[in-house]
Amino acid sequence: MKTTLHEIRNQAGELLPQTALDTLKESFKGKLILDDDEHYDSARLVWNKMIDKKPAIITRCSGVADVIQAVNFARENKLQLAIRGGAHNVAGNAVGDNALVVDLSAMKSVWVDPKQKTAKVQGGATWQDVDHETQAFGLACPGGVVSDTGVAGLTLGGGLSWMRRKVGMSIDNLIGADIVLATGELVHASKSEHEDLFWAVRGGGGNFGVVTCFEFKLMDLGPKVFFTACMYPREDAEKVMRFWVEYTRTVPDEVTTDCIHWAIPDHPNFPEELHGKGVTVIAGMYSGAPEEGQKIMKPLREITKPVLDLSNIYPYVGVQQMFDPFLQKQTFYGYWKSIYLDDLSKEVQDIIISKANGLPAPETLLSIRNLQGAISDVPTDVTAFGDRSARFLLSIDTMWTDALDNEKNIEWTRNFFNEMQKYSKGKVYFNFNADLVGPSDMLKDSFGENYEKLVAIKTRYDPENFFRLNTNIKPMSHK
Ligand code: FAD
Repeated sequence: MKTTLHEIRNQAGELLPQTALDTLKESFKGKLILDDDEHYDSARLVWNKMIDKKPAIITRCSGVADVIQAVNFARENKLQLAIRGGAHNVAGNAVGDNALVVDLSAMKSVWVDPKQKTAKVQGGATWQDVDHETQAFGLACPGGVVSDTGVAGLTLGGGLSWMRRKVGMSIDNLIGADIVLATGELVHASKSEHEDLFWAVRGGGGNFGVVTCFEFKLMDLGPKVFFTACMYPREDAEKVMRFWVEYTRTVPDEVTTDCIHWAIPDHPNFPEELHGKGVTVIAGMYSGAPEEGQKIMKPLREITKPVLDLSNIYPYVGVQQMFDPFLQKQTFYGYWKSIYLDDLSKEVQDIIISKANGLPAPETLLSIRNLQGAISDVPTDVTAFGDRSARFLLSIDTMWTDALDNEKNIEWTRNFFNEMQKYSKGKVYFNFNADLVGPSDMLKDSFGENYEKLVAIKTRYDPENFFRLNTNIKPMSHK
C-alpha cells in the first residue's frame, strides 16, 4: 500500500500536510487508497461510466472505528466528504474530485435473526449479500432488483423492490440504523432513539451521516417464487399497455409489476435472431405461493402473442439476479430521470410509446412501475419520503455506449422529463435521478409537506452541510 501524499489541497485551498495522513495511516485498519495505488481506478469508478471523478483519498473502512476516523479526518482537514455504498447511484455522488471517499465496500456483513425475523446489514452490503443470508431461513428483505445495488443508497432514498406493493418500500421495513454524524459521534436511530433522525433517513438520503448498519424486519418468502417476464413485440405496445394499466387496478398487493419498453440486448441469454428487437415487457413477481401467482398473473402472458415468455417459477435469488447481466457496472453512460404519475391515461401511454419508438440510444429503458398497495398505506408524515399516493412511477433510464453521445442523450431525457410534468404533481424518485435540473424545485416538490421538517433536522444534525455530496437538503445557515 502506497500512502505518500501528493499535492492535495483542501476546500480552503490549503496544502494537506503529509503528517496528517501519516497519523491517519497509523490508526486506520482498512485500506487508504491514493492516486498512485494500483487499485485507485477500480476504487474510484462507479456504475455510471459518465462519472470520472478523481478523489484525493479513498478510505476503504474495515469497520465503524475507521468510519469515525475518516469522518473526523475529512472535517478537521476541511476535505469534502463523499460516501460510497454500492456505487450504483447514477448521479455519481459516491465519489468527488479531490474529496475524501468513505468507502464502505469492505463492510458487507449481514446477520440474520431467524426467530425475530430481522437482519442487521452493514453499510457497504449489496442486495445479493442480503438475499444470500436471508434466504437461508426462507426470509427476504425488500431491496433492489439488480443484485449488486447497494443496500445503503437504495434504502436511504426509499427502495422499490418486487415486493413493494405487499410490504412497502425498503424504508418501511427499516427498524433502526447506526449513524456516524458529522461530529464523528456514533448514534443509533430508531422509533425510540433519535426518532427525528430515524424519520429523516427514511427517504432523506445520505444527508445526515454515514450509516454503518441498518436493521430491517424480514418477510417470509421463497425459496421459490413466480416471476413473469413476458416480452411482446413493440408493434403491440399500445394493446399491451392498455391491458396492463387496467390489470393493475384489480390485482391483490402480492402482485407487483412493471411495464418496460426495451430492446433485447445482444447477449447470449437471448436467441440471436431477437437481438435488437424492440419489445414491451411485462415483468413482475408474486409475493406469495408460486402456484397462486402463476394463476393470478396468467392474463399478463396472454395479452397478445409474445416474442419471448420467460415467466416461470424461479428461486427468489435467481429472480433477484435476472437483470444483472444486462446492467453491469461501467458498461453504460447513463442519465436518468424519473417522475410519479397519478394515472396513465391513453394520452400518456401514447406519449411513452412514441418515445420508446424514437429512442436516441437503444440501450435505454423506459420503465413504468406500478405502485400503491402497501406503499400508499403509509401516511406521508410517517417517513421523510414524501407523498406516496401515485399509482405509477415512470423512469427514463437513458443509457448509451459512446461518450460522444452524452449531450444529445441528456438533452433528449430532459425534454421528455419536462414534457411529462403536466401529468404529474412534480415529485421525482431521487434514486433514479441524475441531477436537480428541471422545470421546478424538485426538492420542495418531492418532499412536499415534509420538506421544512427535513431542513430543521438537517440543521440540527449537520448545520455546516458537511454531508452535501448527495441530493442535498441545505441546513438553514446555507439557504
Ligand atoms: P452509491 O452511489 O454508493 O450511493 C449513493 C448515495 O447514497 C451516496 O452518494 C450517499 O449520498 C448515499 N450513501 C451511500 N451509502 C451510504 C451510507 N452508508 N450512509 C449514508 N449515505 C450513504 N433503486 C430501487 O429503488 N430499486 C431498484 O430495483 C433499483 N435498481 C437499480 C439498478 C441499477 C442497475 C442501478 C444503477 C440503480 C438501481 N436503483 C434501484 C437505484 C438505486 O437505488 C440508487 O442508485 C442508489 O443510490 C444506489 O445505492 P448505492 O449504495 O449502490 O449507491
